[in-house]
Amino acid sequence: MAEGARAACVIGWPVRHSRSPLIHGYWIAQYKLDAVYRCEEIAPEAFADFLSRLASHGYAGANITIPHKEAALAMSEPDDRARAVGASNTLWYENGRLHSTNTDVEGFTANLDACVPGWEQRAGEAVVLGAGGSARAIVYGLIERGIGKIQVVNRTPERAEALRARFGPAVQPAHGSALPHLLTRAGLVVNTTSLGMAGQPPLAIDLAPLPGHAVVADLVYAPLETPLLAAARARGLATADGLGMLLYQAVRGFQLWFGVRPEVTPQLRAVVETDLEK
Ligand code: NAP
Repeated sequence: MAEGARAACVIGWPVRHSRSPLIHGYWIAQYKLDAVYRCEEIAPEAFADFLSRLASHGYAGANITIPHKEAALAMSEPDDRARAVGASNTLWYENGRLHSTNTDVEGFTANLDACVPGWEQRAGEAVVLGAGGSARAIVYGLIERGIGKIQVVNRTPERAEALRARFGPAVQPAHGSALPHLLTRAGLVVNTTSLGMAGQPPLAIDLAPLPGHAVVADLVYAPLETPLLAAARARGLATADGLGMLLYQAVRGFQLWFGVRPEVTPQLRAVVETDLEK
């Protein structure tokens, strides 16, 4: 790295699985920037100290991954999205102060915009499966984009109730047994559970009741084509996959740290796809 190069990193524990260095490294090379993006594996007990010295470690900002997203929120000045989601995944300095946001929100909606332009006109009612950390970002993003009714189905009903308490009456907790009926009215179905991920059971839902204009999105990106997305495509439904969301959520940090708004291209996608297949 040349003297004076801009630097950013992803901070996690563990962090070696992260695809962020591959994505940001690709853009740094593509835009021929004097910049570097590193992995920082920081244990929970060392996180506060590391983050408080982020700038003196040479960083213009950072991505934050498990298990530090809540601590990062508490130690920075979060925007409305990070505050609403309750977790920060992207940090940067502005006038010497550490700011944060949650880019899973825009990663999800920008990917939908790219895959299914005008999706919110056809979404009508949405069904969100799961009520964990990522579901908070998805629900917030859907409300931001004007979706007025979001049915949330989760194995643990209390977590779906907590989403309603957090985001208000647009969120309607529902039982799994109601799914076949809910799907008849849904224009968008989003899987935010870890089901369908390699090593996990598939998400066992029958998409037959969905109307033909419905869109199916999955946050899981390993495998790239989950059983849910395969079933949706087999039915001829429009889809948006988890890799697209992962790529779009990276855009804002890169722009904030390095001053260039990078593009999500088929070439970048192919590079990450190849890595996921390893
Ligand atoms: P999380 O907070 O741990 O939530 C996991 C969710 O999955 C909960 O709703 C949980 O239900 C449900 N679940 C887990 N095992 C289940 C099972 N056997 N049966 C039924 N439900 C089950 O995780 P997260 O951070 O939200 O992440 C969820 C998935 O999204 C992961 O696969 C992650 O890789 C992916 N993700 C992708 C992106 C992207 O950019 N594409 C971004 C964020 C996350 P309970 O509440 O009942 O436990």
